[in-house]
Amino acid sequence: MTVDEIKETYNMSDIVARYGFQPNRRGFISCPFHPGDRQASLKIHERDFYCHACGIGGDIFIFVEQMEDISFKEAFQVLGGTYEKPTFASRLTVYKSQKRREMLRKEQERLRGKKRLNCMLISIYRAYMERTEPFSDVWCDSYNALQYQLYVQAELNEIEARW
Ligand SMILES: [Zn+2]
Repeated sequence: MTVDEIKETYNMSDIVARYGFQPNRRGFISCPFHPGDRQASLKIHERDFYCHACGIGGDIFIFVEQMEDISFKEAFQVLGGTYEKPTFASRLTVYKSQKRREMLRKEQERLRGKKRLNCMLISIYRAYMERTEPFSDVWCDSYNALQYQLYVQAELNEIEARW
């Protein structure tokens, strides 16, 4: 069980019952953490406890820790806690995310390649336009090609901005 599952499974009175305590009608037990508590000062709530005399309080894990004088980890195990080994499914997720990162990296590389080519084409078409008679056939073809490449560049920039 995980910490949350243990908390779901046991409430405070289940835990104190393990140690032989029976809360009175008002939900108090004699505090085992300070001597001579005839008044029953330790209040048992649903999920936690609090001693109105000595001030100790906490959840079920703290109660077990204090009763047995053990660490949280030990109390967790006493209450049926288990550390789960990573399952095949979670390893698969890790593998997938590695693969995804790899795919993304390749995609970015391809995009950079496209951008380089596109910049080259833009400068070639600009050079054509500078060297040819405005509105001649070659000039017009270069103009159209340039407009297309500028459009592609804007698209590529937008894709890059999304990453
Ligand atoms: Zn106390």
